[in-house]
Amino acid sequence: MKLILVSNENQPKMYGFVCPGCKRHHRIPVEGPQAWGFNGDLNNPTFTPSLNSFYDNGPNSPHQKVCHSFITNGNIQFLGDCYHDLKNQTVALPEIDEETYWK
Ligand SMILES: [Zn+2]
Repeated sequence: MKLILVSNENQPKMYGFVCPGCKRHHRIPVEGPQAWGFNGDLNNPTFTPSLNSFYDNGPNSPHQKVCHSFITNGNIQFLGDCYHDLKNQTVALPEIDEETYWK
C-alpha cells in the first residue's frame, strides 16, 4: 500500500503519502472541487494532473521551495523545478502503513 486515507468521514476523501523527495507528507484530495483524477489503486496509484507543493513563504515568494511531481502507476516522477536531490528522477513510491505514516 502506497497511500493512506487521511480524511475522516465528514471530509471529502483525501489520501496521503510520504514523499521520497522532500520527505514531507503530501495530501491529495480525490473528491470535492479541488479533486485530482485518481485511478483508485492504493498499490499502483496514478494521479492527474501533476502535484505541485510550495513551501516556506508561499507561491509568490522569491525564496520558495517547490516539490513538483507526477504520480503514475505507483512511481513518482520529480520534475526539474524541485528543490531536492530527486529532481529529474523517477522512483517507486515507498510502501507505507498507518503506523509509519502517522509517526
Ligand atoms: Zn515532495
